[in-house]
Parts: sequence; structure tokens; C-alpha cells
Amino acid sequence: MVNDLYFYVNNIGKIIIKIIGTDFIYYKEINNKLVPLTADENEIVKNILNSKNSTILFSVKLNSIIENNPNLKNFETDLTFYLEWLENFIPWEFRNDFYTNLATLKINFIDNNSINNSIGGYYDTKNNQIFINKYLMNHIIDKYKNNKNFEIIYTNGVMHEILHELIHMASTHIDKNGEIKSGLTTVNDDSYTDGISEGFTEFFSYKCPKMLKLFRKTSGYNIEMYFAAILTEIVGEDVAFESYFHLHDTSLMEEKLNQLLPEYDSKNIFKLINSNLNYRKYCLHTNDIYNQNFVEYIQKTLISYYKAKILKNIDNNTKTEEEILQSINNVRENLITNETLKKYKTSSLQIEDSLKDFEEFALKVNNMLILKRSL
Ligand SMILES: [Zn+2]
Repeated sequence: MVNDLYFYVNNIGKIIIKIIGTDFIYYKEINNKLVPLTADENEIVKNILNSKNSTILFSVKLNSIIENNPNLKNFETDLTFYLEWLENFIPWEFRNDFYTNLATLKINFIDNNSINNSIGGYYDTKNNQIFINKYLMNHIIDKYKNNKNFEIIYTNGVMHEILHELIHMASTHIDKNGEIKSGLTTVNDDSYTDGISEGFTEFFSYKCPKMLKLFRKTSGYNIEMYFAAILTEIVGEDVAFESYFHLHDTSLMEEKLNQLLPEYDSKNIFKLINSNLNYRKYCLHTNDIYNQNFVEYIQKTLISYYKAKILKNIDNNTKTEEEILQSINNVRENLITNETLKKYKTSSLQIEDSLKDFEEFALKVNNMLILKRSL
């Protein structure tokens, strides 16, 4: 008799493969008995065993890309940590553009004569090149070189800028019509999704463990990033990933939002986020006062979607009490407050209403959960 094939997977344990015809059937071993895997476990195991998703193969692939691209290999700071993190961060089915672009990526430093002073850098989608503002980076280095936290400041300033552009790179792809798709946008299109696309790029960059949360407040895209964080709580991480790395538009997010509140047009939210970013850029550029009520309106609307989502979760029992409380905390952490807006020249904005609205809802949910527990 042939011995069973088996292997180990984190969080599941020992897995036994039974081969029937050409089918592989997986079991786990509990008390010396073979027990079929749950649907989720099956999915995890299948992904691991699918060669397209082999972590080992991908890591080998990443190393060989770095080795064969002199621009990455000879870069002044070791990029391996950031590239490995990004590789693992992107769901495996969407990693192709990351590898393809990385193989020929060029990273350039340019001085302030050729780039707007306020921009830390940008990714040239057409030519697959990252440009970093040397002037701004040197400014950070000069200012903080004697600071005891220089390492952290350098990582969160200079390396963060590069990581942000690497995420743009990883989500860029030329489609069969020759159109450049990047993040949630079609480049050169009259798109309303640039703002939220930057928001997600920034939101994703702070998932990297070397990037500290305290730097988020002052990030150049702080407002868009908070909106992206709340949107992720509403539509779910999978939808966010698929939209950003695969669909390159907000259609799926809009669909999810429309299911929650059909009476709203979800497209408007993205248009307003985009308008707000453009308006803010304009104010920075002209030294005008950043005075608007977009932020309050968008935040209020997002909270309305969020409420609808949580109430649905409670109704359908699709989330545990713990998950709901965790989610509420995530949203609370990402709400825009007067503190966030302090960095802009602005008269006091009415943001308190939406914060109050959210806290009232949080309290209501708490009471609902207590009631539910006692039933
Ligand atoms: Zn960007």
C-alpha cells in the first residue's frame, strides 16, 4: 500500500492528499482520523499548491528580477525588504504587472529644476520609470541627519515615497486597446477616480510594517487615504484589491455601495473625492484658503453607507460581535477630524457633525449587540 501524501500548512496543520483518478482530495488529520477540509481551507490549500501561487517560486522570481535589473540591484538603499513586502501584499492572482514592470523599472532622482517642489516623486506610467525629487529628499536628510530617530524619519520620508510609487508601478498595465490602466484609473482619461486612486495607493503603503501610523496624518494624500480606509471597511478588502490591481476602475465598489443605499448615486462620492483633491492642489499652488464642505459631505455619506452595511451584518448574522466592534474601531481611527485638516490653511470646517453622527451610531450598535447577546 502506498503511503499517504501529506504536507503541513500554517493554521491548518497536517494535510493528507488522496488521489482519486486525476483529482486531488485533501484531508486533515484529527485524532488519527481523516476529516475533509472546510471550503475556506480547501481554497487556501489549492492556492498554495497551484504553481501560479507558490511563494517559493515567486520569491525566486523576485530575487532573479532584482539580480537582473541593475537599476534595482545597484540602488543606493536596499529595496529587497520593500519589494518582498509588496510581493506578498498583492493577492497572487494580481501579481503579474508587478513582476513585468519591475523587471524593466528605472528609478531616477531628479532635482527641483525639473519637478514641482511640492511633489515628492511620481511614476511615469508610459515609460515605467519612478522619479524621486532629490531636492525634497535631501531636505529631509539635511534637516534630520542628527536626529536620534533619523532611521525612522528616512524610512517614512524617502523610502515611503519610493514605496508609494512602487505601488503605482505594481498596478499599471497597458490593455489590449493600448490604454494605460493604473490603480483605479485609465491614464489620459477624463476620469473621476484619480483622487480615490491616490487614496488607495497611500492607504496600501501604510500597510507596510516599516511605515508608522503617526506619519499618516501629515501625508500628502491624507484625506484621500482616510476615505480609502473607510471605503475598505464598507466594500471589503477583496473588492478593494480587485478594483485597484485588476479592474482599474471603481465599478465594483460602486455596485457594492449601490446595493447598500440604492437611493444614492455612488459615482458622486468618487467625483467629489476627486474634485476635493484637485481643489486642494489648486489652493496649495495659489496659496489660497482651502475652504470647502466636500470633506464633511463625503465623510457623512461614507458613514451612511457604513451604517447600512453594519446594520445588514447584524441583521444577517454575517459578522461576529468581535468583528463588528473591530470594524467600528477601524473606522473611528480613520475619520477625518479638525486635527487632520490643521495642516491646511482653512477656516474651521464643520466636521464635528459627522463625528457625532458616527459616535451615536457606534453607541446604538453597542446596545444592539448587548440586546442580541441577552436574547
Ligand atoms: Zn501617487
